[in-house]
Amino acid sequence: MHVLESMVNHGHERLSFTQDPETGLKAIIAIHSTVLGPALGGTRRWAYAHESEALFDVLRLSEGMTYKAAAADLPLGGGKSVILLPKPGEQPTEAQGRSMGRFVDSHGGMYIAAEDVGVSPQFCDWMAKESKFIMGGEAVSHGGDPSPWTALGCFNSMKACLRHLGKSVDFKSLTVGIQGCGATGYKLAKLLREAGAAVLVTDVHVPTMKRCVEELGCVALGNDRNLFAEKLDILAPCALGGILDHKTIQQLKCQVVCGTANNQLLHPDADGALLKQRGILYAPDFIANAGGLIRLGGLYVGLTEKRIDEKVAAIEETTLTVFKESSHAASTSDAAIAFAKRRIESVRKAKANAQPVGV
Ligand code: NAD
Repeated sequence: MHVLESMVNHGHERLSFTQDPETGLKAIIAIHSTVLGPALGGTRRWAYAHESEALFDVLRLSEGMTYKAAAADLPLGGGKSVILLPKPGEQPTEAQGRSMGRFVDSHGGMYIAAEDVGVSPQFCDWMAKESKFIMGGEAVSHGGDPSPWTALGCFNSMKACLRHLGKSVDFKSLTVGIQGCGATGYKLAKLLREAGAAVLVTDVHVPTMKRCVEELGCVALGNDRNLFAEKLDILAPCALGGILDHKTIQQLKCQVVCGTANNQLLHPDADGALLKQRGILYAPDFIANAGGLIRLGGLYVGLTEKRIDEKVAAIEETTLTVFKESSHAASTSDAAIAFAKRRIESVRKAKANAQPVGV
C-alpha cells in the first residue's frame, strides 16, 4: 500500500504508529478529519494476518467515523485506532491498556479513544489512567458500553426502511436475520423480539448464539444454512465489515440490509450500486449504527441525556432523508457520504470565512 498516496486520496490528516518494547504494544492511530472537532473513534484489538490489513482497516474505519459524526450533526471529527495482536484471542492487560492510553494522550486531545471490537469498558478505564482523552469506561473515564444506543439507533433506522418502502412500521409479520449476536447484535435481537419480529441468528461463537435462542426465542441457523441466502425481510450485519460484495449481494433474498457493523460494503461504490440495481434497500452503516457515537461523543461534548436520546431517535429521520436524496445518486451509500460531506464543507467554509485576514 502507498500510504501517503492513500492518505491524499481519502483526505486523512494524520497517521501515527507506536511499538512499546515494555508491553509489546503495537498500535496505529488514524485521524481522518478534525474539521468539525476532535476525532472520536474506538480502539480495535485484532489479530491481523498482515500489517497492511491493519493499516487498511484503520484508514477505512477512521474515514467512516468522520462521516458518522458529521451525519449525526456532532461537533466531532473522525478517527480510529487499532492494536495489532500477535494471535487471536490474546487477553487484554492493564499494562497494554495503559501503554495505549499514553499513545492516545500523545495526540493532545485531537484523538479520543473508546470501545470497539475486543475493547471493553475495563480496557477503556485502563487507557484512561494515562489520558483524559478516553470515553467508554465506567470508573476512570465515563460513558460505559455504548452498544445499547447503537442497537436502538439501528432499530430506528429499520423503521425508516419500512417507511421508505411504504410499509407500516410493524415488526410482527417480519423476519430479520442477524449476523453476529455480540454486544450490538444481541440487543438488536431483543428489541426486534419485543416488537414481535421473528429473528434468525448466526454467530461463529456458539454460546453467544444459544443465549439468543434461550433468552429471546430467536432461531439459530445451522451450519448447513447461509443467512445471506435466506428469505428475509431485513438482513442485519452485526459482526465485522466487508461482508457485502458482488458475490454475497447476488445471493441476497432480503428487501432491506440494515445492521450495526461498520464498513459493510467491501467496495462501497460498486457494491452500493449493485444493491440498488438489485432493488435491495441498504441503510448506510454509518447512519444506522451512529447511536453509540452519539452517546459517547454526546457525553464528551456535554450534551444532556435527553438531547442524546433525541439524537438517537433522529436516526430514523436522517435515514429517511438519505433515502430520499439517493433517488438521484448511484446508491444510498453515495447519498449518505454526500450528505455528511455537505455538513463538513459548510463548517469548513464558515471557519475559513471567520479567519482574520493576514497581516
Ligand atoms: P462484538 O464483538 O460484541 O460482537 C460481534 C459478534 O460477531 C461476536 O459474537 C462474534 O463471535 C460474531 N462474529 C464474528 N465474525 C462472525 C461471522 N463471520 N459470522 C457470524 N458471527 C460472527 O461486537 P459489537 O460491539 O456487537 O460490534 C459489532 C459490529 O458493530 C462491529 O463491526 C463494530 O465495529 C460495529 N459497531 C459497534 C458499535 C458498538 O456500540 N459496540 C458501534 C458502532 C459500530
